[in-house]
Amino acid sequence: MKEITTAICPKCGQEYTGRPALSREDGSTMICPDCGTREALDSIGVSSEEQDKIIGIIHSHYPKA
Ligand SMILES: [Zn+2]
Repeated sequence: MKEITTAICPKCGQEYTGRPALSREDGSTMICPDCGTREALDSIGVSSEEQDKIIGIIHSHYPKA
């Protein structure tokens, strides 16, 4: 199932387009894909500096429309 939606991420306050991610923090908040990636990386002990690098790499491969 693919849904294209535009929403404001409650975690970072940015508008995003695309499939939201479910926050691991409370299991019910829908957050942007970047924050979903950050939470996933955070959960495996990746530092925020490394998270920024990884998100930068993701964006360079999948630029925003
Ligand atoms: Zn976000």
